[in-house]
Amino acid sequence: MRTPFVVGNWKLHKNVAEAQALVTELKNQLGAIRDVAVGVAPPFTALWPVARRLEDSHLVLAAQDCFWEEKGAWTGEVAPTMLADVGCTWTLVGHSERRTHFGETDATVGKKVAAALKAGLGVIACVGETEAQRDANQTFAVVDAHLDGALAGGAPPLDRFVIAYEPVWAIGTGRTATPAQAQEVHAHIRGRLRERLGDAAAAAIRIQYGGSVKAANAETLMRQPDIDGALVGGASLDAAEFVAIVKAARPRPA
Ligand code: PEP
Repeated sequence: MRTPFVVGNWKLHKNVAEAQALVTELKNQLGAIRDVAVGVAPPFTALWPVARRLEDSHLVLAAQDCFWEEKGAWTGEVAPTMLADVGCTWTLVGHSERRTHFGETDATVGKKVAAALKAGLGVIACVGETEAQRDANQTFAVVDAHLDGALAGGAPPLDRFVIAYEPVWAIGTGRTATPAQAQEVHAHIRGRLRERLGDAAAAAIRIQYGGSVKAANAETLMRQPDIDGALVGGASLDAAEFVAIVKAARPRPA
């Protein structure tokens, strides 16, 4: 049984006071829900204060990115060990916005995944095709390449490695993949995990869906057999929307 995992990626939003207010609201509203793992990924500047608010909570703290070195002359970068030091237990790696705007490649994603795992963090490795790639029937090839990049450092610990399938054309556009479109790619990714890591790993590794998830569409997406939660951008900035998405991810009796 895979415990669903829902994470809010706050992107470049929320100053310290706003982040504290949102996470306090989430903590209050999600305190009783234990069958879904829940995380928030605030901007770097809010990690420490949000971590303090989460000290008595089961919500987990994630960074939106990390670097692959521990220290040195790397102006502007943040090491996974530093993220762990302020209270993060997870980090996103390879988000499409990092790939598109900041030159992230499969090679750098692989180095970041390895460094984050070495520092004891869990990793949410993002994969997904652009609209042009989907139209050219390259979806599976693209997610395979992204996945291979993320796994370049070797077999990951199964409870600390999560894949987020995020079709780029669905991120922040309001155009969600249909449940069938998402399930098709999730099933493919699970098959690829089976080839790369074996049956037990493929059965254990969680695959989140991301791309314009909101309260109104979460239920049907979360009912798909290979969708194990969500990576939520815009809708995670609103407590009521995010709480509704978490509730939609709760396991239902068969
Ligand atoms: C994301 O940034 O990971 C994301 C899925 O964004 P949105 O939910 O806004 O599409």
